[in-house]
Amino acid sequence: MILHVQKKANLVALQDFYRAYAIEEKNYYVLITPSSIKEIDESHKEDIIASFPMDTDIQLASRKYISEAREIKLSDTVKIGGASNQTLMITGPCSVESEEQLDEVAQFCVAQGVQVLRAGCYKPRTSPYTFQGLGHKGLILLAKMRDKYGLKIITEVKDATHVEDVIEFADIIQIGAKAMYDHGILRACSKINKPIVLKRGFGSTLQEFVQSAEFILSGGNMNVALCERGIRTFESKTRFTLDLCGVAYLKEHTNLPIILDPSHAMGYAYGVADLTRACVAMGVDGLLIETHPNPSIAKSDASQQLNFEQFSALKKSLDKVAEAVGRKII
Ligand code: PEP
Ligand code: MN
Repeated sequence: MILHVQKKANLVALQDFYRAYAIEEKNYYVLITPSSIKEIDESHKEDIIASFPMDTDIQLASRKYISEAREIKLSDTVKIGGASNQTLMITGPCSVESEEQLDEVAQFCVAQGVQVLRAGCYKPRTSPYTFQGLGHKGLILLAKMRDKYGLKIITEVKDATHVEDVIEFADIIQIGAKAMYDHGILRACSKINKPIVLKRGFGSTLQEFVQSAEFILSGGNMNVALCERGIRTFESKTRFTLDLCGVAYLKEHTNLPIILDPSHAMGYAYGVADLTRACVAMGVDGLLIETHPNPSIAKSDASQQLNFEQFSALKKSLDKVAEAVGRKII
C-alpha cells in the first residue's frame, strides 16, 4: 500500500507500524508498505491524507498509483516520458574503444542531431577472454566528448564495484541486463537523482523487471526508465526476442518512460532498422541503437552495430512513423 502522510505526523512511528519506506515529497511524505498491508489503522486516519492499496509489489511504478506517465528531464529541452510525446534517440558504439573512435561517433551524433551518446566502459562480457572495456579511462573519454560537443552521456554499470565511478561521470546511468538484480547497484542508484535506464534481464519476467525498478523508486529516485532489450526464447536465429507484447504491458500498467533497444535484441545489423520503426510505431519514449564508425572491427557486438550510412538512412525514415503516432524524435 502507498500512503500520503501529513508533514506534521510522527513519521518514524508510522514507518515502524507499517514497515514502510519513506520518500519526502513537497507537501507530504510517501510511505510504501509491504503489499501484504491492505488497510490503515483507525488511529492514523488524521495523519494519512490518502491511501492506495496495491495488489502486487509493483507500487510506485504502477498506473494505479500515478496514472499519468512520469517525466524524466535531462535538460530544459530534453525530456522523456510524461506528456512530452518525444522519443529520445540515443546512439553510439557498444564500447568506448579509443579517443579517435569515440570522437568520430560524437561528431556523427552532432551532425545527426542526436543529443545523447552511448558507449560502455565496463562491459559485461560473456567470455573472460574478450575485450572487457576501458573502464575508468573510457569514462574520462566520454566526459571529454560531453565537454567538446555538448552531448549527454549514457554508460553502463555492470557491478557495484564501479557504480560510484559511473554515477560521477555519466548524465544517465544504464544498468546492464545482467545487472538488473544487483542490489548494490540498485541501492546506489536509488540514492541519487540522475536518470537511470534499467535494462530488463533477458531471463526476467515483467513482474521481476518492474520490481527491480521499485528498488530504485522506493529508495527515492523517481527518474527511472525501463529498457526492453530482448529476452531469451526458444528461437536461436536472432540473438534475443524483442518483447513488444511486454512493452504494451508496461505502457498499460506502469507510469515509467520506456526505452527500446532493438540492437541487442536482434543481434544483427540487418534487422535493426525495421525493428526500430516498429518500436517508434508503438509510441515509446526512447531508442538505444548501437552505431560504430566501422562495425566490422568493433571490439564488442560487431555484428549488430550500424555504420554511419545505415544509421542516417534509418534516422531519416523515423520522422514519418513518429508523426503517424503523434510523436517527435528528438
Ligand atoms: C550494451 O548496451 O552494450 C549491453 C551490454 O546491453 P545489455 O546489458 O542489454 O546486454
Ligand atoms: Mn552492446
